[in-house]
Amino acid sequence: MLRRANAIAIFHAIRLQPGISQREIGDRTGIDKSTVSAVINQFDALGLLERVADESRKGRGRPSEGVRINGAAGLMLGIDIEPERLVVMSAGLDGVPLDVSEYPALPSESEFAGGVSAAVAAHLARGGSTLAEVRSIGVCLPGLVDRSGKLISSSNFRWGAVDVAGELRARFGQKVWVDNDARGAGLAERLFGCCLDVQDFVFIDSHSGVGGALYLEGAIYAGSLGIAGEIGHTKIVPHGRICQCGDGGCLSAYISGPALRDAFRGAGLVANSFAEMKALAEQNIPEAMGVLDEAGEILGLALSNFINLLNPPNIVIGGGLAVLAPYLMPPAERVLRRHALPEGLAHCTILISELSKEPHARGPLAVALQGLSQLNADGAFPW
Ligand SMILES: [Zn+2]
Repeated sequence: MLRRANAIAIFHAIRLQPGISQREIGDRTGIDKSTVSAVINQFDALGLLERVADESRKGRGRPSEGVRINGAAGLMLGIDIEPERLVVMSAGLDGVPLDVSEYPALPSESEFAGGVSAAVAAHLARGGSTLAEVRSIGVCLPGLVDRSGKLISSSNFRWGAVDVAGELRARFGQKVWVDNDARGAGLAERLFGCCLDVQDFVFIDSHSGVGGALYLEGAIYAGSLGIAGEIGHTKIVPHGRICQCGDGGCLSAYISGPALRDAFRGAGLVANSFAEMKALAEQNIPEAMGVLDEAGEILGLALSNFINLLNPPNIVIGGGLAVLAPYLMPPAERVLRRHALPEGLAHCTILISELSKEPHARGPLAVALQGLSQLNADGAFPW
């Protein structure tokens, strides 16, 4: 486990500073010299690295050698299984996206593996690539995903249990990694977004449901079964609105995309996306402002609970909540000042995700990258 954490930390140090020397990797990660050297040799043997002269040291004594990720050594794929569409994104081994394509939503769980395979084949053919070039595949979907990559249930799809990792590994090999979409999005903030140098944060986002990720002390906190972070089903209102999960009063029943769409409709407005909701608020329509003010207060209650429970140094607001942040955060902050422990609030920075404003989620690529960067892959989660 320690070995895996070291390998991941070293890989990302190299990714974020191409040409970094082994000594600088040690300084940046705090990992001892012999471990850095052993892990680099293993990455080298896998063909993931190339060695380069460290330009920064030119003319300062003995030239030292740096390493960087060999971006051309293969491809990574990120597959986002959404209720409305299937998205396939390819990237170099450094995680930089190269191409993205969209396909129709998967019709049922029985056709899921075949549908994903067909989409991957079409995407690769479009870019003139082959499956042999693909070194890692990250898959994200909404629902409860356990540590082995099984989807336990999903109220978004109304699918039963599906062994997502097992079925896709049968087709693509051991290079497949699967996670819940919100946890993937949280990991993407750590690898590509606003938490590059942040070891502790709570992530919350909203799409068809409200999800979250607990990134604590340098790693995803997964919980007993592997489903930790289901922030959307924390209870906010006693005897409250019925949630997609069947219970009442969940956070998701108030600030998910469908819940907000219903609230807008109840106020006599039509808004089918977060962008449309934002557009109505920008026009200063009082009913729209009223709906978002109420939603912001609910968000503030949820954030107060995180602060009081976890004392996180950072909270990242993502998904549709990031799009609507200019309208949700003022009421949320009002509630935070009332309900969060003042000391906890004073030591918490609330960040608004920029990645969430991109048209396609980066979570699946983050999961693929995390899987690629761990050595001795054993088929478990790439945390
Ligand atoms: Zn619920």
